[in-house]
Amino acid sequence: NKSFDYDLRIGIFGAGGVGKSSITIKFTHNMFIEEYDPNVEDEYTKEIELNDKKILLKVLDTTYPQEIYDPFPRWVEYSQVFVLIYSIIDKYSFDEILNYHNYSIKKIRKDYPKILIGNKSDLTMKREISIKQGKELARNLNCKYIETSAKTGENINQLFYESSLLAFEELKNK
Ligand code: GDP
Ligand code: MG
Repeated sequence: NKSFDYDLRIGIFGAGGVGKSSITIKFTHNMFIEEYDPNVEDEYTKEIELNDKKILLKVLDTTYPQEIYDPFPRWVEYSQVFVLIYSIIDKYSFDEILNYHNYSIKKIRKDYPKILIGNKSDLTMKREISIKQGKELARNLNCKYIETSAKTGENINQLFYESSLLAFEELKNK
């Protein structure tokens, strides 16, 4: 029965097929599997250290499409930081980020901690969204932008490190 200095909670959001489950499981279990059930919402945990503190990191892998009224408010309540994910090979998923922001999350919580993720960076030949476009959207949302690959593992630790820092700040502000 371990004790932790803090629990932190990260919410994973984004359109279907962008890699929400893949990113989560790559980080928590260091595995990449091609098929996850897109309809299962689950919480994963991992022990990390942050600023010499023992942290139990909780990651909520959400499903899509997301209902605006229920269960969306529950997810907003849960998340100390919002990881907004699109796929760099899927313009639709990129456009969906603004829809989440404007019509879902922001309606419930005005200025929320977030990070923008362009996933599937390994699929460069199929890229539809440039790094410049990603950075531009992040500037508009007032958050950081990271490109990741759940397949190669590129920047996956970085994603969760940055997210944990934001979640920790959020915890301290409450
Ligand atoms: P979710 O619906 O957002 O949870 O997406 P999934 O995690 O189920 O991923 C959808 C599909 O994209 C699966 O076939 C994954 O194997 C694939 N995928 C996810 N991330 C990556 C990535 O970084 N690179 C590549 N090449 N495929 C990925
Ligand atoms: Mg999924």
